[in-house]
Amino acid sequence: MSAERIDGKKAAADLRKEIGAEVKKLKEEHGVTPGLAVVLVGEDPASQVYVRNKHRACKNAGIESRDIRLPEDTPHSEVVAKVKELNEDPQVHGILVQLPTPEQVDDEEIINTIAPEKDVDGFHPVNMGKLLSGQPEMVPCTPKGVMHLLDVTGVELEGKEATIVGRSNIVGKPQAMLLLYEHCTVTMCHSRTRDLSEHTSRADILVSAVGVPGLITADMVKEGAVVIDVGINRLDDGSLAGDVAYDEVKEVAGAVTPVPGGVGPMTIAMLLRNTLEATKRSLEH
Ligand code: NDP
Repeated sequence: MSAERIDGKKAAADLRKEIGAEVKKLKEEHGVTPGLAVVLVGEDPASQVYVRNKHRACKNAGIESRDIRLPEDTPHSEVVAKVKELNEDPQVHGILVQLPTPEQVDDEEIINTIAPEKDVDGFHPVNMGKLLSGQPEMVPCTPKGVMHLLDVTGVELEGKEATIVGRSNIVGKPQAMLLLYEHCTVTMCHSRTRDLSEHTSRADILVSAVGVPGLITADMVKEGAVVIDVGINRLDDGSLAGDVAYDEVKEVAGAVTPVPGGVGPMTIAMLLRNTLEATKRSLEH
């Protein structure tokens, strides 16, 4: 039997509609328009596409987006100064610095400079710490989007075995915490895991966030499992593929996300959600 195809495009479109309505209400009731500043240093083509998509999504949801482009050779100190300026700007409720930045810029220090209350990516150590200690506020967009997809798909999480492949700060680690809070029993795998398939094949929920096309094959998946493919890999022929060998895994899994059209659209929708939430919190202060 073929698995249910989890439609991230539709879930994201529904969410964006909901956010658009909330933005409109916020404007009517409080006269405030959420503002997101996106800083792009250099001209990396992939980053340019991501940034363009973010601005477009903001516009469609009624969020004011500010496009800040800095030349490739901008010194680190100038990027820091720009972020500090945005921290002080009352019309900016969310700040995002598109990563990776050119070599001379220290990404970690840039993230640490963003005011935690404007850190819509949720990468600042304060926001990471809040998530770890069970007081989540600004949660990284991709794992938050995965949780939303599981929710709209009606997946029961309590007591389930969840395996996450990949332990990055932006996906794997926060994903583990979010699944733990929903009472899953969580296993995290990475490049030094000895027998990957031993861990993946007992998972009721399997999340792969690695960046290796076709890493997860049918024999690594438990029958009926929910498989979430976070990976985005550009193949030699220019097409996009996830970490999961979709065509074979769909014959074993109960539900699976496609790439493209699965987790990807959720990430941008959650960026809008985080910007809206940051704006609402700013009104409370
Ligand atoms: P990172 O490179 O930061 O992390 C990759 C993780 O995978 C690491 O923890 C690494 O282990 C682990 N890993 C690498 N090779 C293997 C292997 N053979 N077996 C098991 N684990 C392995 O990547 P990101 O977390 O930033 O991104 C992961 C993927 O998700 C990428 O394809 C990226 O493009 C995509 N992505 C998609 C998003 C979306 O919106 N859908 C958003 C963000 C990312 P170790 O720690 O030991 O090195």
